[in-house]
Amino acid sequence: MKKVLITTAIPYVNDRPHIGFALEAIQADALARYFRLLGYKTFFLTGTDENAIKNAKKAKELGMTAQELVDKNAQRFFNLKTLLNLSFDNFIRTTSTQHIKGAQKFWELCKKDIYKKKYSGLYCVGCESFYKDGEFENNVCPYHNKPLEKVEEENYFFALSRYQNKLLEIYEKGEIKIVPEFRKKEVVKFIEKGLEDFSISRPKERTYNWGIDVPGDPSQKIYVWFDALVNYLTGLSFSEDSKTYQEFWLENNNKIHIIGKDIIKFHLIYWPAMLLSAGLPLPNKVFVHGFLTLNKKKMSKTLGNVVYPEELVEKYGIGATRYYFLREVVSWDDGDFSYERMNDIYSSELSNELGNLISRVTNLAQKDRIKTHFPEVPFKDLMPKEFYQHVESFELHLALELIREKIKKLNKMMDKEAPWRKKPEERKDFLEEMLFELYKIGKALQPFMPETGKTIEQSCLDQIKKVKPLFPRLK
Ligand SMILES: [Zn+2]
Repeated sequence: MKKVLITTAIPYVNDRPHIGFALEAIQADALARYFRLLGYKTFFLTGTDENAIKNAKKAKELGMTAQELVDKNAQRFFNLKTLLNLSFDNFIRTTSTQHIKGAQKFWELCKKDIYKKKYSGLYCVGCESFYKDGEFENNVCPYHNKPLEKVEEENYFFALSRYQNKLLEIYEKGEIKIVPEFRKKEVVKFIEKGLEDFSISRPKERTYNWGIDVPGDPSQKIYVWFDALVNYLTGLSFSEDSKTYQEFWLENNNKIHIIGKDIIKFHLIYWPAMLLSAGLPLPNKVFVHGFLTLNKKKMSKTLGNVVYPEELVEKYGIGATRYYFLREVVSWDDGDFSYERMNDIYSSELSNELGNLISRVTNLAQKDRIKTHFPEVPFKDLMPKEFYQHVESFELHLALELIREKIKKLNKMMDKEAPWRKKPEERKDFLEEMLFELYKIGKALQPFMPETGKTIEQSCLDQIKKVKPLFPRLK
């Protein structure tokens, strides 16, 4: 049986999730559902990154413990499961015992490449990362718009430099496939400039004693990236060497990470080097999406320029919300959200094109008491082969474009045939043909809009009944 592992990056939990993370979660979910429908044994993993110093700092300000804060915020991310109809199989939290044990086990496996040294460097608290002098203009972090701080301390280091040639070889041979392709060039260029060993621990005083202890040295906490990346293993119960871990990491050549473009360095340089050091298999594909802007401007809470997924689901429903992020946003590029565009897509593509088509066909079929007996069509035969190629090359927007073209074609057929002017016996064959096409569309839509797709499929089967409007007029 074919297998696939799909993961999202695990977000920091210092705030409630906005649509930026919702985009990634929906993309990953569409892929997971797609592979399940194709019959793959699928594991979809997500979770939360909770050991950041930021959390300890913020909890202190709020007068609560860091654990209380992350418990509260992690729940908000977990709640996306219901809100956005996500089908993840596990939600790994980096403060869980399972993750802590796994992160420490992983550290031990990399021991030959770990050493201690005095270090001073330029640090961004927002990124929780050290940067090179001159890496950014004026040493200001472009992601957080804050000057990098000079930090001096004794830390453990990971000998990344030892893996420079091996990593270049991996990308030359295409052992890890990156979509879009141009990201690979960025990565290779970065490696060619020369890789430096990086700090993988911090003195516990600087972390407010928050984080995972370095095995054998409780005066140090594991640096957040060296701990967080390991979630891809611990989420499969790596510490217990479970069957799931063996099946989906060790014996699976279809491990797909979905990440944002800001964390390429960690996923395409640090993570493979860490796995090489530990003697473990590499991921096979990394799909990189862009950033989401709001009305073409950077989303920022301080500017009041943020949209939360709850608002969209309440106004447009889960199906339409998912549709927007999968269809309007080019999967591997930057995208924009605006209410104007959302309203536009909702009323044109969803309500007028798809919703109307379904109600026009089913209303007549119901009047004529049509009962259908379609042969079961396997998911792999619903659409032309380009559809499957698009999804598997992380072009979800193009897969949906194909479905939309089909819907448009069926609408044209309806207008041309005008079955409402005909007698029931004259239009029976035509309506049955339309119902069969709609049944296939309903099934093909299920990775993207699971409930809407199922409703469409069901409403074309057996005794045709009146269907409630799928995309009701907006309030
Ligand atoms: Zn930063």
